[in-house]
Amino acid sequence: MLRLSKVPDAHINNPQNIMKSFEAVKLYFNRAADELELTENMRTLLLTPKREVQVQIAVEMDNGDLQTLIGYRVQHDNARGPMKGGLRFHPEVDLDEVRSLASLMTWKTAVVNIPYGGAKGGIAVDVRGLSVGELERITRKFVDEIHDVIGPDTDIPAPDMGTSAEVMAWIMNQHNKYHGFNPGVVTGKPVEHYGIPGREEATGRGVGILAFKTLSRLGRKPHETRVALQGFGNVGSHAAKFLSEADCKVVGISDISGGYYNPDGINVLEAIRYVNKHERSLEGFPSAEKISNEELLELDVELLIPAALGGVITADNAQRIKAPLIIEAANAPVRPDADDLLHDRGVVIVPDILANAGGVTVSYFEWVQNRQYYQWNLDRVRQELDRVISAAFEEVWDLSHQRNISLRTAAFMLGIGRVGRATVLGGIT
Ligand code: GLU
Repeated sequence: MLRLSKVPDAHINNPQNIMKSFEAVKLYFNRAADELELTENMRTLLLTPKREVQVQIAVEMDNGDLQTLIGYRVQHDNARGPMKGGLRFHPEVDLDEVRSLASLMTWKTAVVNIPYGGAKGGIAVDVRGLSVGELERITRKFVDEIHDVIGPDTDIPAPDMGTSAEVMAWIMNQHNKYHGFNPGVVTGKPVEHYGIPGREEATGRGVGILAFKTLSRLGRKPHETRVALQGFGNVGSHAAKFLSEADCKVVGISDISGGYYNPDGINVLEAIRYVNKHERSLEGFPSAEKISNEELLELDVELLIPAALGGVITADNAQRIKAPLIIEAANAPVRPDADDLLHDRGVVIVPDILANAGGVTVSYFEWVQNRQYYQWNLDRVRQELDRVISAAFEEVWDLSHQRNISLRTAAFMLGIGRVGRATVLGGIT
């Protein structure tokens, strides 16, 4: 029997957050737009999302309670191709955050030059308390509400925080019930169910490739590089594995349970085995000193990789950050005021729209594979990922040095320039 209950407060937009995330993206956008000498009208056109969808998701929970959740899909821009971007299931998801992440996807796909626009979606929900059945019902109900606005040639969702390959398989299945068989409607699917080998490791691997390239440009040797990573989920753990295999010394890792520090180096494979055995948590991880997540960010290391939530590096803790190189594996982990402080101190920051683009790049390969009905192998995926990420890195690095601007402004310039040209070439009205 269905029981009715109140909408939990966590699912109502927090007015404190409104403006914050999108304002930050606008700020970075405008810096690059100044360099590009874009007109006000063009700025407004490029910043305004094409479509924003907000839907009600009413589901029956296992205990019979009725839960009403809010789901979002923001389709930011399609000048360069179908819109593309992940789905985030997290209690802090709101329209402003999704809007900012959707626009980051537009610049991200353009920086790595894959034929997509940008979108993002999400549901304000805490997945940790959900049963598999509840998660599946929520996902399918969400697709019921948005199936008409997504599709392999319009907007292609993918995993993000709180979603997985299994969730993507449900999305494909539910969408296909309405529109017929087409695995290319979503990427990040299970490998044995129309997915592609190497998609899961792709974001972390991309971070690793970029770390390697940047270290070499800065004249630093991997074996002399101590690394701290915040976040040990899919992205953080794969980046840690790649870097430790490439001879870097990973001295700090963390997750929601706290930070773990070992100046002699953490055995990353042991940590991965540990989380696999302990419900994906590092809680109780031996052979390391327990520190807080804040302390982890301030460790004396050569490379810091925030790979968890956004906004963790603030004007407050920026002065205490010792790492001369930061690679933004998460989306928007450095707030704009902190970005300025760090840049003034000479800290090199590889920005999110380049640093974590490995995921969407391999999503693109998966979509191509689905359209070809031909299975790619892992070697080919890794080789092509390396090619795409390396080419984008060279372009961003060169532009930043030619113009004496940060890597972030250079990446935004490249992305905005490509989207702007496609918009004009396609015809605006
Ligand atoms: N959610 C990931 C991102 O933020 C991947 C998006 C995708 O594969 O479409 O880049």
